[in-house]
Amino acid sequence: MHRLRSKIRDIPDFPIPGIIFKDITPLVKDPAALRLAVHLLLQPFLGRPITAVAGMEARGFIFGSLVAWELGLPFVPLRKPGKLPYDVQNVSYDLEYGSAMLEIHSDALADTDRVLLIDDLLATGGTAKASCELIEKLGATVEACAFVVELDFLQGRDRLDGYETHSLLHF
Ligand code: 5GP
Repeated sequence: MHRLRSKIRDIPDFPIPGIIFKDITPLVKDPAALRLAVHLLLQPFLGRPITAVAGMEARGFIFGSLVAWELGLPFVPLRKPGKLPYDVQNVSYDLEYGSAMLEIHSDALADTDRVLLIDDLLATGGTAKASCELIEKLGATVEACAFVVELDFLQGRDRLDGYETHSLLHF
């Protein structure tokens, strides 16, 4: 875990003054660290009845698709508006800085699906909560949420009350 922690870099005043951004690019640049992160992310879910992995644009695509690949499961992208070409469902939400919308293809999941939601980082929990709502809009079930990094002081976990939530690193 110390090895992973050392691969998360603080970038002050990004994307706006006053925010200290946790940069995960040193982690994904290191193949052994990336492999370790993916292995640890999926570990709690081995043998669980998960049928799909969903990840949020953009860094959730990196970790989510690797977890899906390792588990041999479909990957479902949750995207920013206007990016998905087929019929979509959407949800709006508040961010740590600003507001945003996420979309999912309306045929991406069925009501029998049990979804593992993956993102790089849990901050206020707005993105993850909206993602859970989007998954549920299609009738699917959120089995659990898993993050590489959790910013404890923003209490995003409280926003995910009722959803099983795992994080590898806490700051
Ligand atoms: P939340 O909605 O929980 O406030 O913010 C989490 C979302 O914003 C995630 O999709 C995450 O990628 C992005 N995010 C917010 N702050 C940071 C940060 O400091 N570092 C990284 N890597 N992503 C962040």
